[in-house]
Amino acid sequence: MKKKILSVLLVSSLTMLLANSVFAADTPTLGYKWSSKNITYQNDGSNTVYKALWTTGAKEWNDATVVTLSSGTNSNFTAGNKSVANATWDGIMEPVYNTNKTFKSVKVWVNSFYTSQSEYISTDNAIQSIATHELGHALGLAHAPERTLSVMVPATFLSDGTFARLQYFPGIGDENSVNSIYKNSLSPSQYGLDENDFVEGKELVDLDISWSKWYLNLKDLARDADLVVKANVTAQNGTVVTGENFYDYKQKSEIYIQEVLKGDSALLNQKVSLYQMGGEDQNVVVKYHGTTPLVENDSVILYLKKTGHNEYIPINEDVSIFKVEANEQLINLQSHKIISELKLMEESTLQ
Ligand SMILES: [Zn+2]
Repeated sequence: MKKKILSVLLVSSLTMLLANSVFAADTPTLGYKWSSKNITYQNDGSNTVYKALWTTGAKEWNDATVVTLSSGTNSNFTAGNKSVANATWDGIMEPVYNTNKTFKSVKVWVNSFYTSQSEYISTDNAIQSIATHELGHALGLAHAPERTLSVMVPATFLSDGTFARLQYFPGIGDENSVNSIYKNSLSPSQYGLDENDFVEGKELVDLDISWSKWYLNLKDLARDADLVVKANVTAQNGTVVTGENFYDYKQKSEIYIQEVLKGDSALLNQKVSLYQMGGEDQNVVVKYHGTTPLVENDSVILYLKKTGHNEYIPINEDVSIFKVEANEQLINLQSHKIISELKLMEESTLQ
């Protein structure tokens, strides 16, 4: 008798353990949605392959949740593809927000610069997962933590080369959150905007960026960087707009290189331009919650991707920026973790 109770207990605790690892928590939400659960999107895929990505992604959400995404004519919700080489994202959403917590318009993109690479082509479901993920944003979902069973994990690959989106279609946590957004009221949002973010007379865009790679450690980040430097910010040049999309809004600064830790040593004591996502002009404010604009006199260590002659971007934005604090410790702008320069050099295997 006692034995039986024990085995029942064992089985039920095992079941709970399994349940915990299989069922993800509800996916965080943006705090924004469409006013109806019947949503028309415009499939702007440039060819049948890219069109099919959005068609399949929409069907997956339709099958899994209470929403109905139908393709049609709607310039306020477009889904397309562009080849953007000067970026480390493979998917992005450009939402324009209304003050009443609804989307005014949404553009979602798959970055074909990445999806045409062999790593993507040879990994089953990798490319499809980006489109499904972006449509998840367009329904109001934010990112789920990495290594969870959610299509909303923030990157397609981990930096060790493994596929990060094993849940390549909507998971249970994703379904629950979309259903609660459209059945009931909005769940609390992860990166909530408030009235203070809205500037009178300007559109407000809050980018959702999905990375090609999620960095597991500094060694991988240093490996992928074209240039790792210690630098001083000598000027903040304001917003430059390099194209027709909101992801083309960049905040440009001039940095003076004090030490070259990896890359072209001829850049020592030279100035180069750094571009961070977001910016502002007379019509629009473009934000990204993972970008902290550098200011003049900031002292930083940066892991950079080269995008042009003397032009660089930080890999995955704040992930690659370590600010030197008054006590000579470094703080990472993404994780807010403190690290010494020596430790950073060791972990990056730059020494
Ligand atoms: Zn994303």
